[in-house]
Amino acid sequence: MTGKFKTYWQNFIGGEWVDGASGERIAVENPATGEQIAEVARAVPADVDRAVAAARSAFDSRVLADMRPVARGEMMFEVARHLTAMTEEIAILECVDNGKTLANARNDIALTARYLSYYGGLADKLEGRQIPLGPGFLDYTVHAPFGVSAQIVPFNGPLPVGARSVCCAFVTGNTVVLKSPEDSPLSLFKFAEACERAGVPKGAINIICGYGHDAGAALAAHGDVDHIVFTGSVATGKSVLRSAAERVVPCVMELGGKSAAIVHADADLERTAKSVARGIWFHAGQICSAGSRLLVHRSVHDELMAKLVLEAEGRSVGPGSEGHDMGPLISAKQLGRVEALCRVGVEEGAQVVTGGSRVPNCKGHFMRPTIFAGVRPDMRIAREEFFGPVLVVIPFDTPEEAIAIANGTDYGLAAGVYTRDLTLAHWTADRLVAGQVYVNEWWAGGVETPFGGTKRSGYGREKGQEALLGYVQTKNVGIRL
Ligand code: NAD
Repeated sequence: MTGKFKTYWQNFIGGEWVDGASGERIAVENPATGEQIAEVARAVPADVDRAVAAARSAFDSRVLADMRPVARGEMMFEVARHLTAMTEEIAILECVDNGKTLANARNDIALTARYLSYYGGLADKLEGRQIPLGPGFLDYTVHAPFGVSAQIVPFNGPLPVGARSVCCAFVTGNTVVLKSPEDSPLSLFKFAEACERAGVPKGAINIICGYGHDAGAALAAHGDVDHIVFTGSVATGKSVLRSAAERVVPCVMELGGKSAAIVHADADLERTAKSVARGIWFHAGQICSAGSRLLVHRSVHDELMAKLVLEAEGRSVGPGSEGHDMGPLISAKQLGRVEALCRVGVEEGAQVVTGGSRVPNCKGHFMRPTIFAGVRPDMRIAREEFFGPVLVVIPFDTPEEAIAIANGTDYGLAAGVYTRDLTLAHWTADRLVAGQVYVNEWWAGGVETPFGGTKRSGYGREKGQEALLGYVQTKNVGIRL
């Protein structure tokens, strides 16, 4: 399946589709074939200036502030409607631009529409407080927007990850400049198209694509940005935070993970194996909250391992548009990184049970579903994020030991526990240091459930009602009557 789509995409600034100031373009590659499929206008710092100026002007014009919250919400419903109407077109684009399977790509569009309708519905429900000061006074709080929200998005799920931040900003009255990922920029341009068709005011949402070191850094450091949402790696997040610190700009930081699933001795192993397999091999492990470390009670280690090998080897790997179970990694560079870390694992003494290397003799960036056994918690493969389809398995003997291993990395994004014992599930969930804990199903939760990191996985929350609180600041109005 190929599908017809544009081969040149411009940036969306101030409600117009524009070339980059430098006239340069970024080539977009299909990770399943290594072939160029399109080009996008490369945004450079001058384009960042232009986009921030458009967002500033829209904010200062009070176009959102003067719109009733319910109308801002309805506008998000309209964006969802236009986006949904483009489902098949975007899904195919996402297969060839990002390497997603068709099912995953379609799900991303439905998920994005869910974010838009969920936050659209909350637009008129973010209420302030009235604080009793006694006779002669009236005091109330208002959730005020920050102003211009700069949003920097990673490659792995650009549409839902980008759109969820945009709609939170929009319904709370902020205007947005979003930098899409240079490795997978196209779906967010379709999102811009949906915003345009829905009649989003010019300048309220600006979407540009440039390289991180250049456009991304310029956006994070821009003097007229009031708020930053960064989703990406810890290393880049630190650099964004340094820029933000210079200007004391508040940030939401959604960073990486090395999330652990604990399987207690009494777990339903059949269901656990399916859930663990989905948690690591969905989108070839390129998910921040992938369950990439499996801690298994020694008594069930071998039985669960046998089931996981069947899961790994039963998955077909190939272009998502051809209906395979697992697509490619995003780039040759990322495939090289994942393979290199696998070699480190072997040097450290861990055993490859299955996979461990790329799919041979193909042009795309395909990695085989991989399982490492004999892993010790101090090994690099047990501590560093692969961002690929690699599961490391570590046995444990007591629940206390499992907790110590699970909490023993720098990350704290997600964690999971598999058991039939409700008391043990609570005991474990209580002690896991993570922003989300899944019991008996990896990724239990959804748009409604707050998501975000602890420790180096970041701070602030996306998803759920709580996310909106990251896009507003409390303003108190005290009145002497
Ligand atoms: P990355 O950090 O390389 O890039 C993320 C974004 O930052 C891209 O748009 C990139 O262009 C930009 N960027 C790069 N250098 C920059 C700089 N100096 N200044 C400003 N922006 C810059 O991450 P990636 O490889 O695109 O994504 C993978 C990472 O993202 C993983 O670590 C993954 O765990 C994380 N992630 C986290 C979440 C979450 O919600 N916590 C979601 C998805 C991905």
